[in-house]
Amino acid sequence: MHKIEHIGIAVKDLEKANKLYAQLFGKAHYKMEEVASEGVNTSFFKVGENKIELLEATNNNSAIAKFIEKKGEGIHHIAFDVDDIEKEIFRLKSEGFKVINEKPKRGADNKLVAFLHPKSTNGVLIELCQEII
Ligand code: ZN
Repeated sequence: MHKIEHIGIAVKDLEKANKLYAQLFGKAHYKMEEVASEGVNTSFFKVGENKIELLEATNNNSAIAKFIEKKGEGIHHIAFDVDDIEKEIFRLKSEGFKVINEKPKRGADNKLVAFLHPKSTNGVLIELCQEII
C-alpha cells in the first residue's frame, strides 16, 4: 500500500455537489461514471496530486443510500493504491482484517477494488484499488 488514491464522499444530489465542489476547487470534475453493479453514480475531481470521488446512490439498496440514511452525507471511504490487489487482500486477511470483497471487483475510474470492513479498521471504510492496465 503506498499512497491515498482518492477520498470518497457520499452525496445526496450529485448535480448539486458537482457545482459546489467545482466552486470549492476552482475547476470542474474530469469525469463522471456510473457503476451499475454498486448502484452509484460517481464524479471525480483532481486537486493537485489528489483525487476526490463524489458518490450518489442510484437506488435505495445501494451502500451509499444506506450510508446517508444512517450517517448523513460526508466522507464515506479512503482508497489506497496497491500494486497487486489479490496479494494485498491475502496479506490483510492473514493479518486478521475483515475483507468485504474476497475477490476484487471492477470499480470506477478503471480500477479493480476491494473494501475492508470498517469494524476491523476503527470505523473507517477502506478501499484498496489497483489500476487496470
Ligand atoms: Zn472509491
